[in-house]
Amino acid sequence: MSTQATSQPYPIIDLHCDLLVYLTDVPNATLDNIAEIGCALPALTAGNVKLQVMAIYCATAPGSTNYAALQRDMFAQLANDNNCGLHAVTTPAQLQQALHNPNGIGMVAAVENASGFCEEDEPLEDGFKKLEKIIDACGRILYISMTHNDANRFGGGNFSDKGITRDGQMLLDYIHGRQIAIDLSHTSDALAYDILTHIDNERLDVPVIASHSNFRAMWDQRRNLPNELAQEVIRRNGLIGMNFLRSFLNTQDPEALIHHMLHGLNMGAQNALCFGADYFYFADHPDPARFPFYYSEHEHAGTSYNFILEKLKHTLPQQQLEKIAYGNAQQFIERIWQIR
Ligand SMILES: [Zn+2]
Repeated sequence: MSTQATSQPYPIIDLHCDLLVYLTDVPNATLDNIAEIGCALPALTAGNVKLQVMAIYCATAPGSTNYAALQRDMFAQLANDNNCGLHAVTTPAQLQQALHNPNGIGMVAAVENASGFCEEDEPLEDGFKKLEKIIDACGRILYISMTHNDANRFGGGNFSDKGITRDGQMLLDYIHGRQIAIDLSHTSDALAYDILTHIDNERLDVPVIASHSNFRAMWDQRRNLPNELAQEVIRRNGLIGMNFLRSFLNTQDPEALIHHMLHGLNMGAQNALCFGADYFYFADHPDPARFPFYYSEHEHAGTSYNFILEKLKHTLPQQQLEKIAYGNAQQFIERIWQIR
């Protein structure tokens, strides 16, 4: 670390956290419990986070849409509470304001697993109606991930080899021109390629991102992007949000996050690289090998972003640090949200 006084931290945009799951699923959860979740409000404030994407997450299982609906309503409740410190950001103007606002944290919703709006055994049309309910309640959603770890009616998740289904193609057709990105962070490789192929074949207006994934070339994990897919996201002017979870970085090397970021930049991700820290509640996680979930440097939003940017200060020009902190995500969001 530099011994110089820390400069004014940059505003931060982060593409992924699970605060809504925590608040709706964990008994006695509160917004300010940093010990339980790294994106608790005091941590976001201390870390100068100005826009936090709030995932609406579920596993693929019966009742998944009810589970997700609680998070949808929690988002709306927080957005409507003028005293909680969080406010919804759904327009480019609000994004500008949020980035310059000394108080308060902007938030926008996203769907992590389409099983959150469509059960496996219900008509797709009913699922689309539930998707509209989420969009209405949250003002908009930034992105949709079709799957989580498992396969569902839309395609294969990270631990599957399945590609896209007819329903998956219909979901892409449905969000065409709706200013909603498709997220590759939880797809199988086969599904990711099928998504890109369908977008190209049908000439769909669907932006592509990886909201919270690192690079498989640096750490061989199915949650990480192979170089080819990372390059596709870069070529399509998408975003790649760096994930802080130890098991996706390198389980032995606390410096690995920096190496992932430099690898991304070497591949041409100057305008794509950003943060998708993936803070979630892990205390009840069944796998002891996953502990500690984060290296202490990355444990919570209050210090993690600044720590990483300080580390990179001697390697990267200030302009690139600003792009990573917020600039790339800001540009992307402004571009896809503009009125066409
Ligand atoms: Zn995730």
